[in-house]
Amino acid sequence: MADINVSFEFFPPKTPEMNIRLWASIKRLAPLRPDFISVTYGAGGSTRARTHETVARITKETDIHAAAHLTCVAATKDEVDDVLKEYWAVGVRHVVALRGDPPGGAGEKYIPHQNGYANAAELAAGARRIADFEISVGCYPEKHPDSSDFDTDIDLLKAKIDAGATRAITQFFYFNDVYFRYLDRVRAAGIDIPIVPGVMPITNFKGLIKIATICGASVPSKLVRLFENLDDDPKTRQLVAATMAAEQCLDLVAQGVDQFHFYTLNRAELVFALCHMLGVRPDKGAQDAA
Ligand code: FAD
Repeated sequence: MADINVSFEFFPPKTPEMNIRLWASIKRLAPLRPDFISVTYGAGGSTRARTHETVARITKETDIHAAAHLTCVAATKDEVDDVLKEYWAVGVRHVVALRGDPPGGAGEKYIPHQNGYANAAELAAGARRIADFEISVGCYPEKHPDSSDFDTDIDLLKAKIDAGATRAITQFFYFNDVYFRYLDRVRAAGIDIPIVPGVMPITNFKGLIKIATICGASVPSKLVRLFENLDDDPKTRQLVAATMAAEQCLDLVAQGVDQFHFYTLNRAELVFALCHMLGVRPDKGAQDAA
């Protein structure tokens, strides 16, 4: 099996209990030497302080690169620039530049802030003006729901790359063919940066259906059937979810994928097991540093 590189996404914790779980997960996954650990930014900047605190602590207490997500929602350019400067000041060198969803939630019409960055491409350019950040962006194998067609969608990805993005991380998907068809389109359009598959192991199937509908990600009927009648059976649900995620990852590897971004939802167990199966094993020397 080829050498596989991984990155892990976490969200900033709301409560002390969630903070304990987050840090237990980071400590469990850090010895796998991910390329980076990213921390999401809540809708409308709601997690500004908590995202900052979390990326700052990762930067200070581990030797893993932290990437801070940042969105354009409900903020002026100056406010967003301040957040970027704060990240840079604590040693964060990598930003995941995103437009974000409308304050009313995904699915509503997006209206940029009058004095804000209009989209992720503008934000990426803004970040590059502030400092020499590494920039990752989001991309959409089933196209973003706001895009009228794939060509428009891919043009917008190109604009993000022209603005400085050097990596795109995909929205989660459960049909691997969808990812490979998208990769073909992107490469045919002359885009050559890594298009890293975003893998989201299923922890809550009902919740997933809701999010997938909003994000425009399709859920195979095979998955729906597999999770039937398991609402009150969390153990079986977990085993099915693990099997499905392993099947998806191993198939991606068999088809040449060598980079994964895991949406961990702040839980380490399943992602750790998936990494183990992909040949990504703890670097013993790094365990104490984590
Ligand atoms: P953009 O690429 O800027 O644009 C998205 C769509 O808007 C385009 O595809 C297009 O349809 C339309 N659009 C943009 N610019 C134009 C234009 N000039 N003209 C016409 N149409 C335009 N959300 C959060 O709130 N916090 C997070 O931490 C977060 N992390 C994410 C991580 C990943 C890997 C991904 C894939 C998504 C993440 N999201 C996050 C969700 C993301 O904010 C939403 O999907 C949002 O709707 C689009 O963000 P974007 O950066 O892809 O937008």
